[in-house]
Amino acid sequence: MESYSVHKVIGEGSFGRALLVQCRKTQEKYVLKEIQLPKNASRLEKSRREAVLLSTMKHENIVAFHEAFEADDLLCIVMEYCSGGDMLHRIREQKTKQFCIDDILKWFAQMCAGAKHIHDKRILHRDLKSKNIFLTGKGTVKLGDFGSACVLNCSKAYARTYVGTPYYVAPEIWENKPYNNKSDVWSLGCVLYELCTLRHPFQAPSWKCLILKVCRGAYPPLPGHLPHELRLLLKQMFKTDPRDRPSLRTILTSHRASRLLRAHL
Ligand code: ADP
Ligand code: MG
Repeated sequence: MESYSVHKVIGEGSFGRALLVQCRKTQEKYVLKEIQLPKNASRLEKSRREAVLLSTMKHENIVAFHEAFEADDLLCIVMEYCSGGDMLHRIREQKTKQFCIDDILKWFAQMCAGAKHIHDKRILHRDLKSKNIFLTGKGTVKLGDFGSACVLNCSKAYARTYVGTPYYVAPEIWENKPYNNKSDVWSLGCVLYELCTLRHPFQAPSWKCLILKVCRGAYPPLPGHLPHELRLLLKQMFKTDPRDRPSLRTILTSHRASRLLRAHL
């Protein structure tokens, strides 16, 4: 901790705090995420998993891991600082002004590239949402917050332990089926829809109504000016049976929208 000077608190959550820090030696800025370490052994393991999984990632579109250390009862994860803030904030800034299609395609293609890297390593992110997707000062997208991530085939009933924003959760999770790579695809579909409309695809006054809408895959139609391939892609990402959804590999290589996306990478 002595190697860094703290500039400010940039996020506060159930875990602890996210601080903007500067390395005293190199002057480089980083985000330092402090996580209160639990006493219970299995929960301790779970807390450490975030640092372990993030440290295995190495990709343009994933927040870069710098180092992790433990001090007293705190786990500190030091990572790349994304000065553009999170995507939810960026969406809210727009108020009602729609994003241009080039920005939508560029950001979404970068999200898919980052998520494909995660899946290629047989890891599931499990909390993809606009609040966990960051922008650098240059406007590059970086996936972050590996606090819910796990190695493939690790999870049984994820819904029971779910505490976050429910808007991005796939139908199979509400049905208590295992979390799989296609559940991440559903969540990215929700982010793509948000970029296209500035609204959530599935929204309701209560959890019960929300879950019903999600499990029917019923979302308000997309504006007609969007490219046909993109509307088709969203329709497929929102298939209620995960087997019918395209994988990230398909989205980026063989789907009808993939040329459009790759042209923006
Ligand atoms: P939580 O588990 O509370 O969701 P996050 O890792 O998402 O933790 O961090 C919480 C908040 O801190 C984020 O929503 C964001 O505002 C800020 N933050 C986290 N990591 C970064 C980063 N690498 N660059 C910029 N801001 C970040
Ligand atoms: Mg988060």
